Amino acid sequence: MTLASVPHIPLRRCVGCGKQRPQSELLRLSLLPGPAGGIDVNARQGGRGAYLCRDRKCVTRALARGGLPRALRTPQGAWPTDMAERLLETVS
Ligand SMILES: [Zn+2]
Repeated sequence: MTLASVPHIPLRRCVGCGKQRPQSELLRLSLLPGPAGGIDVNARQGGRGAYLCRDRKCVTRALARGGLPRALRTPQGAWPTDMAERLLETVS
């Protein structure tokens, strides 16, 4: 086992707990462009994204601290009111 045999895994930081994890283990949120706006969960497209562990604790913490809207640079008032619910459904 050498370092060279370990494939490179992109790490992303969870907005909830601040831990770095492989991107594939995290939930990706992104801010949708356009007048309708909104947040997409697990979107594949580019744009500003934020990552969260698939863990209710991280979701709750990120929402409580306002870390998610900040990480996504969501304009004031553009944060969907049902987002907390949607996220908790996704991770449960
Ligand atoms: Zn986390």
